[in-house]
Amino acid sequence: KTTKNSNAEYTSEVFAMDTYMTLTAYGENAKEAVEAGIAEIQRLDALLSTGDANSEVAQINQNGGGTLSEDTDYLVKRALAIYQSTQGAFDISIYPVMQLWGFTTGDFAVPSKEDLAAKLALVNAGRISLTEDNGVSSITLPEGMEIDLGGIAKGYTSGRVMEVMKRYGIESAVINLGGNAHVLGSKPDGSAWKVGIQDPNDTNGYLGGVSVRDKAIITSGGYERYFVDEATGVKYHHIIDPKTGYSANNGLISVTIVSADSTLADGLSTSLFVLGTEDAIAYCEEHCAEDGFDAIMEDEDGKLYITDGIMDDFINMNNTANIQE
Ligand code: ADP
Repeated sequence: KTTKNSNAEYTSEVFAMDTYMTLTAYGENAKEAVEAGIAEIQRLDALLSTGDANSEVAQINQNGGGTLSEDTDYLVKRALAIYQSTQGAFDISIYPVMQLWGFTTGDFAVPSKEDLAAKLALVNAGRISLTEDNGVSSITLPEGMEIDLGGIAKGYTSGRVMEVMKRYGIESAVINLGGNAHVLGSKPDGSAWKVGIQDPNDTNGYLGGVSVRDKAIITSGGYERYFVDEATGVKYHHIIDPKTGYSANNGLISVTIVSADSTLADGLSTSLFVLGTEDAIAYCEEHCAEDGFDAIMEDEDGKLYITDGIMDDFINMNNTANIQE
């Protein structure tokens, strides 16, 4: 016997895509919606995981190409568009370099210059070829190239989960896919969601927050996945600059993108982190309004850059002195 309760709240957790995910929905069917959302996450994880030899992406890497499902086709096309617009800062063919550094296995090592140069020579998303035949899309990779959609997969996934929730009639939900937040509608009381942005220098603190409805809030930072080289004490993190093959170190320590387009938000958080302070600011000036996103970025001096569109909805938790528009 179940009683339908329009104020019902249901929360569940799942481990997928190498991270803990939390889904909360409100209203009638909240439980069913959350469970269907988890099923959608598991479906996409099985499709996109590079570590699972049976996944579509792993099969493409093993075979140098293959036919693409609708989801993978969409993601590859979005990734290539971001590759183009960021002049290569976002490059899904970075995977051989990720492997070399051990970020795929946890078996970390600073590679030799020669090994790095050899892997970097395989990185060039401009050489990925997509063809269409009778409505079936296929991908072909040059010899040795491997792709990894890890830079946009979680963003896409949160968007898909929200679509699933809406099909269950849900109007209020919040999900957190390992630091990638996405909110649907307003809080059950009608007010905007308040989402904190992690302080890159203090995992228990926040650099600020945003007050939003129907948005993804996605942060990239060097503090998420990294190792310290014992010999030199140098810290290497999992966002790689395709120009150098090393961890991106171009002045930004945290980039948050706020957008209704969660796939874009995920791709751009990585991209702008790679681009670095100056180029990221220029990218925002050119693209924010047109492409529908906002950015909150912190540089290595602790200065915050906040785009106009989110300024009024930014929740300042520290001091305003360092904020630049
Ligand atoms: P996370 O997925 O840990 O939240 P990001 O969204 O910033 O962090 O994405 C980092 C992931 O993106 C890496 O684990 C790797 O799979 C991939 N990646 C790293 N560097 C690049 C790059 N320059 N372009 C595209 N993808 C990248």
